[in-house]
Amino acid sequence: MEKSRRKVYRLGVMGGTFDPIHYGHLVAAEMARTEFALEKVLFVPTGNPPHKSGRRVSPAALRYEMVKRSLADNPFFDISAVEIERSGPSFTVDTLRQLRREWPEHELYFITGTDALREIFFWHESEEILNLTHFIGASRPGFDAGDFLRKSESEKPQVIHRIHLLEVPALAISSTDIRARVAGGKSIRYLLPENVRQFIQENSLYLTKR
Ligand code: NAP
Repeated sequence: MEKSRRKVYRLGVMGGTFDPIHYGHLVAAEMARTEFALEKVLFVPTGNPPHKSGRRVSPAALRYEMVKRSLADNPFFDISAVEIERSGPSFTVDTLRQLRREWPEHELYFITGTDALREIFFWHESEEILNLTHFIGASRPGFDAGDFLRKSESEKPQVIHRIHLLEVPALAISSTDIRARVAGGKSIRYLLPENVRQFIQENSLYLTKR
C-alpha cells in the first residue's frame, strides 16, 4: 500500500523593528514568499528590542499600525502582535516558540536583514533558535555575506543548510535613511506606501534627528 505523504507547510516570519516599514521590507517579504514557497508571511514588529537599549525607537503601537496599514493589499501577508503584547525584552526565541505552538503543522522561515542575522550566534538562546527555524537573510546589493557564511559553517556545520541568503535590490531603501530624510525636511514619497507616509506626517514622527 502506498504511504500517505504529509504535506509540509511553510510559514514566513518577518521580524523587524520597522521604524518605519518601507518598500524594501515589503519586496523582501514577497520575494521570500515566492522563492521559498511560503504559504504566508507573518510580520512581527519587535516589542522592546533588547539590542537597542539606549537608542530611541518609536512606540511599538505606532510601528505596529504602520506595518498593518502597509499589508492591507496583499492576501499572503499578515501581522502578529505577539512581541508587542509580551512584556519584557523582545527575544526572538520566545516568539518562535509561541509561533510553533500556534502553527504546529508549519516549518518556520525567519526572515530578516542579513546584518541582523549575522549576530544570531549571540542572540538569547541561539542554540534553541537554530533548532526552531530556517533563516532567510535579506541583504542590500553589494553586501558581502561571505564572512557570515564561513563563520556559520565552521561554528555550526549542522545548521548551515537552514541559513539562506536573498539579495533584494529594493533594500537600498532603509529605515535609517527615511528617518534622516524626514528630520532633514526631505521627501520620502515613493520610498514607502503612501498611507504610511501620511501616518508619519499625521503623527509628527521622526522630526528630530536620532
Ligand atoms: P536592525 O539591527 O535594526 O537592522 C539590521 C539591518 O537589517 C538593517 O539594515 C535593517 O534595515 C535590516 N532589516 C531589519 N529587519 C529586516 C527585515 N525584516 N527584512 C529586511 N531587512 C531588515 O534589526 P532589527 O529590525 O532590530 O532586528 C531584526 C530582527 O532580529 C527582529 O525580529 C529582532 O527581534 C531580531 N533580533 C533578535 C535578537 C534576540 O533575540 N536577542 C537580537 C537582535 C535581533 P532597516 O533599518 O531598513 O529595517
